[in-house]
Amino acid sequence: MSTQQKVALVTGSSRGIGASIATRLAKDGFAVAINYASGADAAKALVASLEAQGHKAFAVQANVADAGEVSAMFSAVEQHLGKVDVLVNNAGILKVQPLAQVSDALYQQYFAINTQGVFNTLREAQTRLNDGGRIINLSSTTLALKMPGYAIYNGTKAAVEAFTQVFAKELRGRAITVNAVAPGPVATELFLEGKSDELIDQFAKMPPLERLGQPEDIAAVVAFLAGPDGGWVNGQVLRANGGVA
Ligand code: NDP
Repeated sequence: MSTQQKVALVTGSSRGIGASIATRLAKDGFAVAINYASGADAAKALVASLEAQGHKAFAVQANVADAGEVSAMFSAVEQHLGKVDVLVNNAGILKVQPLAQVSDALYQQYFAINTQGVFNTLREAQTRLNDGGRIINLSSTTLALKMPGYAIYNGTKAAVEAFTQVFAKELRGRAITVNAVAPGPVATELFLEGKSDELIDQFAKMPPLERLGQPEDIAAVVAFLAGPDGGWVNGQVLRANGGVA
């Protein structure tokens, strides 16, 4: 067995769930690449904090919607940390709006980031990931909840679940697993922005566990799939939502 430190690349990990995933994977022994789009300060602050705790981390800017930037991101990570073992497709956006009010521009932005962003990294992963690696894509429990305002978002995530299930089979022979984690409401900027305290409270009461998810709840599930105990789970969508659906 190689004694070299394993490398995890987490897209959109300057803040929110991604930052928690990167932090947890660093604590689990991975060298972590912190990808961001515009949040350079937050990404660099996270790298500094991880390094101060003795971990290996590297911040890398790339818009996941841009195939060229994604390719350059993998090259930069390889150069600074080594070849990637674990890819977490976490970068994503949410803008709650009834389907009939969604502009062409928002529709395109949604699919460019949430769906094509995942396609771009998966396509690279075919050649860039070490054998024995792990891929974890972030979907959403909103797919199961079917709430008004989430049609396009759910469409972007349904595609991600479809990619997950087929790509797991296309990687036959490489010992690479591909799974999706579908969180319920998690207390991050993406979820909280634009919601009243009352609405947030309603969401918090929905699961039988009667609270919002925290980024660490999701990071723990991703860490399981990325770690030794998750190795036999492949091609699955794991809902982590306190039992809401
Ligand atoms: P946040 O809005 O808190 O963070 C989003 C992260 O994605 C940021 O680091 C942001 O970087 C990055 N990002 C956005 N666009 C791009 C891009 N084009 N290229 C690279 N990075 C980008 O979101 P959450 O942490 O809440 O969500 C993370 C994932 O979890 C998403 O895929 C989301 O759909 C999913 N999810 C979230 C739920 C929730 O309730 N929060 C529930 C279910 C699923 P920057 O700072 O540079 O903009």
